[in-house]
Amino acid sequence: MMSVSADLYLDGAEPWHEQAACASYPAEMFFPALETPGASRAAKLVCAACPVREECLSFALDTAQSEGVWGGMDAGERRRMRRRIRDRARRRAS
Ligand code: SF4
Repeated sequence: MMSVSADLYLDGAEPWHEQAACASYPAEMFFPALETPGASRAAKLVCAACPVREECLSFALDTAQSEGVWGGMDAGERRRMRRRIRDRARRRAS
């Protein structure tokens, strides 16, 4: 199978893309076919040492990225985080 690097989804539009630790890894490592804890483990290890992890996670949350590992979190983890943030904001507003 041909490997596509993460450079394709980190298109350089954001300043932090230049420091992305995943740029030289295959994109399918960060976008596994199955969303299982084991499938994203290797990607999360790369993210753990990434200098722009916070920026990446903020971008994924702000733009509602629904697939793949961003900022060390898979899609399900980000959905739950977005729900917690939304619930907290609603409680503060009431
Ligand atoms: S946090 Fe992970 S997905 Fe985001 S730029 Fe860094 S290595 Fe890539």
